[in-house]
Amino acid sequence: MIDWKHIDTVLLDMDGTLLDLHFDNYFWMQHVPMVYARTHSLSEEESARKLHSAFSIEQGTLDWYSLDYWSEQLQLDIPAIKRELVHMVSTRPYVVEFLTHLHASPRDVVLVTNAHRKTLDIKMEQIDITGWFDRVVVSHELDAPKEEQAFWHRLQALHPFDPARTLLIDDTESVLESAQRYGIAHLLTLLQPDSKRQKRIDTRFPGIHHFDEIMPTTNA
Ligand SMILES: [Mg+2]
Repeated sequence: MIDWKHIDTVLLDMDGTLLDLHFDNYFWMQHVPMVYARTHSLSEEESARKLHSAFSIEQGTLDWYSLDYWSEQLQLDIPAIKRELVHMVSTRPYVVEFLTHLHASPRDVVLVTNAHRKTLDIKMEQIDITGWFDRVVVSHELDAPKEEQAFWHRLQALHPFDPARTLLIDDTESVLESAQRYGIAHLLTLLQPDSKRQKRIDTRFPGIHHFDEIMPTTNA
């Protein structure tokens, strides 16, 4: 599926790719509506309805990924609430092995995430994977999410890479589409970003279930 001879740069998404998306889905779809109901004296159904529609409106924008934005909108201390559940953050299967192999190879390995810096910091308190990367790029710091072309242009200006020899692995289709438009040649998605939800069957890009399917050999 991947011919590692043709790959110099590996760009890896965090949530739903390296980490189990179950944490985020549970946090935003169940836990936050529960805390919001309690804080604002609403029923849980009312709270869930209100928040789920608010979340779908902002999708794919920097605000949507911003803890400060949601803290302000919902009048809740989102980072503090997130920290209470940090024990639920976990890597997907074979991630440590995959990153170990990549790190030992001559390739440039970059974490590219739309997660807010505060989210990244909280998650890395639980499970620090940053040591395997040559660089960590947070889209908020480039002022554009991966869904926008500006992100890839700014990434290129900061840390030049050859799109024809670059692999991006990301569970979000709109991010893969954006990367494809920019010219990134090798694109892979994840078939089950959330371990508690069903496997996806309608992906537009080639997908893997786990990283053991594309494990590079140490010298390849
Ligand atoms: Mg993701």
